[in-house]
Amino acid sequence: MTKDIFVFIETRNNIIAEVSLQLLSEARKLKAQYAQKGLNHQVVGVLPGYNVENLPATLFNYGADKVILCQHEKLKEATTQHTSKVLSDIIRAFAPDSFLIGATVIGRDIAPRVAARVDTGLTADATIIEVDMASDTSLLLITRPAFGGNLFGTIVCPNFRPQMATIRPNVFEKTEIEAEAGEIIHFETTFDETDWVEILKREVQQAKTNDIAKARIIVSAGRSMAKHLDLIKDFAQTLNAEVGASRGLVETGALGKDVQVGQTGKTVRPLVYIACGISGAVQHTAGMDKAECIIAINSDPNAAIFQIAHVGIVGDAVLILPKLKEELQKILN
Ligand SMILES: Cc1cc2nc3c(=O)[nH]c(=O)nc-3n(C[C@H](O)[C@H](O)[C@H](O)COP(=O)(O)OP(=O)(O)OC[C@H]3O[C@@H](n4cnc5c(N)ncnc54)[C@H](O)[C@@H]3O)c2cc1C
Repeated sequence: MTKDIFVFIETRNNIIAEVSLQLLSEARKLKAQYAQKGLNHQVVGVLPGYNVENLPATLFNYGADKVILCQHEKLKEATTQHTSKVLSDIIRAFAPDSFLIGATVIGRDIAPRVAARVDTGLTADATIIEVDMASDTSLLLITRPAFGGNLFGTIVCPNFRPQMATIRPNVFEKTEIEAEAGEIIHFETTFDETDWVEILKREVQQAKTNDIAKARIIVSAGRSMAKHLDLIKDFAQTLNAEVGASRGLVETGALGKDVQVGQTGKTVRPLVYIACGISGAVQHTAGMDKAECIIAINSDPNAAIFQIAHVGIVGDAVLILPKLKEELQKILN
């Protein structure tokens, strides 16, 4: 009998990836839905690593009832082979009902391998996960964009376990809870020493820009702003904001892909998102529609961005931004 919601806890240099905490919090919501069906599914953090015994306390504070801790020198870095093996072994040993993995570089790499090894399905890049409350099954309904984001497909995995999904960072919110220390289960693992890739050295490429995924305010530019980036950057500076972009703008080469917001870019959740000359295609809004306040400036009154904007300004952004800056400076100074 399978039970419990497992969440892969990704770490780097003894720091837990934000997406892992976001998934624990979302798993807690699923637990509440299961409870309505009389099912007592626990939230279990699966933590492979080395010298990471200080981390479970944080996991309990974000919703884990239990933590499976698997420590091994080879798990110091999250390598594809070692992490995939441990997760597959843990699934075989504990038979979880579901397994959630952050769609980070490592998560995207290991999730399909693990799914294939334990002979189950995987829904990649999910945006909504909920328990099927309408039927008497305990299936998860896992929704993800399809056909370039123009459609959303809901996928179920009725015959195999665990029900696996990867979820991109910032799709869900992390929520700290008042938690007591939960149970820590120590899981022993061994590796065949012969044919493993070993990471000898890791060189971190210095980011050219700040990470927009962590920004509180984003001023984002659309294709039409390619020749007016100085204006966008200057306005962003006034607000101490980061500069983001649509794919339309990134395609012009004016800014790099690291600031692209959307389905094939980053998912952001700032307090304020100011979309300048961005049409509001679904592939863009998929990455920013959870911003607390969306302000859109667009010369086309029928632009789709106005359907999700909290404040809409119809007009030429090139003329509006300097005026807005002037007004803001009066307040800020
Ligand atoms: C598989 C797939 C994945 C994709 N992934 C992404 C993604 O991650 N992120 C993303 O952004 N897109 C993505 N796209 C592309 C997306 O469909 C749109 O083409 C793109 O978002 C359009 O960018 P844009 O709004 O900047 O440009 P446009 O569509 O060219 O729109 C420009 C807008 O600017 C307005 N405008 C023009 N001049 C001014 C002015 N002076 N002042 C004010 N407004 C002005 C126009 O009215 C218009 O609304 C993806 C597409 C596919 C098929």
